Amino acid sequence: MSSSSNHNPAPLPGTPLLVALTGGIGCGKTTVLKEFRNLGIPCFIADDIAGAYYQEPSFLNQIRTLFGGSVIRPDGSADKQAISRIVFSNPQSLQQLNQLIHPRVWSDFLLFAASHPQAPYLIFESAIVYEYAFDKLVDKVICVYLDYEERMSRLMQRDRATRAQLQLRMNNQLSAEEKMMRADYVILNYEGNPRPRQVRHIHSQLLETAVSQTSH
Ligand code: ADP
Repeated sequence: MSSSSNHNPAPLPGTPLLVALTGGIGCGKTTVLKEFRNLGIPCFIADDIAGAYYQEPSFLNQIRTLFGGSVIRPDGSADKQAISRIVFSNPQSLQQLNQLIHPRVWSDFLLFAASHPQAPYLIFESAIVYEYAFDKLVDKVICVYLDYEERMSRLMQRDRATRAQLQLRMNNQLSAEEKMMRADYVILNYEGNPRPRQVRHIHSQLLETAVSQTSH
């Protein structure tokens, strides 16, 4: 069967396969995710979901308790830059923030999965799948790969950030090479690489896995 015949997956009964999409920041996860979405696959973006928690008064209270009043602005909103300064310079604080966020993100993903029972597979997108052992909770992992220097140059453009600021964010992540070696599927996202073809290929393999899973 050609991969192009799989663009609009037929609904399958049963539980969708859970697939994580990861890679170092700036490797192109968001870009790749759009392509899976265009193939009809429901996608969950962990960062966006976690970002919404910062709108909730109860979550803001927990943040204030952990990091002090300086992380809340006079208007009551979270000062994310102040939080980043604290957590990226103090591993224990980062761990505390993660413990507040990650278990909740995962239960939200399970709710998302429950609301898409007919999908053949679902994607959970996060830069830190391996760092927080989400790989143990999913069936397959896709890694988008781009080397450090290439990511750095794309990020300096995208985020208008300095090399030092980006290095600080990257320091808390496993190397892109280690993620690539541990993943089930790898997408190379260099300019000019046939990325859509790689995405379609992985998509057809995941559809086949989903079908064989439901027929057992
Ligand atoms: P991530 O979500 O992994 O942080 P993005 O998808 O935001 O990464 O990509 C980082 C930057 O690189 C963005 O500005 C994006 O437009 C750009 N980009 C993504 N893929 C490519 C590519 N194949 N060639 C050139 N630029 C790309």
